[in-house]
Amino acid sequence: MNLMRDTEQSIQIIRAMAKVIMTERDYLSSLDSTVGDGDHGHNLAKAMKTAVEAIEALEEPTVNEIWRVTGKNVQDSVGGASGLLFGAFFTGAGRAIKGKSEIGLTEVVDMVSGGLAQVQKRGKAQPGDKTMVDALAPAAEAAQQAAEANLSVAETLSQIANAAQTGAEATQEMVAKHGRAKFLGERSIGYQDAGATSMALMLAAWADVIVGETV
Ligand code: ADP
Ligand code: MG
Repeated sequence: MNLMRDTEQSIQIIRAMAKVIMTERDYLSSLDSTVGDGDHGHNLAKAMKTAVEAIEALEEPTVNEIWRVTGKNVQDSVGGASGLLFGAFFTGAGRAIKGKSEIGLTEVVDMVSGGLAQVQKRGKAQPGDKTMVDALAPAAEAAQQAAEANLSVAETLSQIANAAQTGAEATQEMVAKHGRAKFLGERSIGYQDAGATSMALMLAAWADVIVGETV
């Protein structure tokens, strides 16, 4: 049993996610400004900062609690679609590890698919609709495949991050079906989706924490 380590690690992962979104917030808002209202990076950075403060204030949290509280704070601190949907990702990931004290390979796979399921339940986006689902769905698939191949947690997270990055890049070719970008229709082609890009960056931050720990 290694309760301390896995909870500390979850806090570190969420801190790393917050950090990359803060660092890249201008870039992320600029992606949103071509097809949306240009607030994405700033909103998400603010939400992640609030979430980090909230989880740092928890006393002896479980891993489930850390991810759930992150979800709730992200959801509450940003208005609009994406707060709800990014919040849903963390809430779904947290639910997937209810009652668990350690995050191993099975848990990582369940968290990514649980996060995806919750985002789709809330937002009803399908792969190909030019949303964060286009980063998350390939990530969930890569996670399943990595688990079937019995890769290590670090290798699995690297595969997840790569698939999400490729998925986010592929949104450039897609026509937006949700959010503000939908009103642009065909004119949304050529721009990478902001939410998919953020999701890919956060999954990469997660992988970096674990890979960094295992080398
Ligand atoms: P808002 O549209 O409220 O300004 P943001 O700019 O923060 O929100 O986020 C926009 C991002 O939200 C998009 O780039 C897209 O990835 C994501 N998004 C919008 N609608 C949906 C949806 N229905 N399902 C999943 N993701 C969505
Ligand atoms: Mg926006």
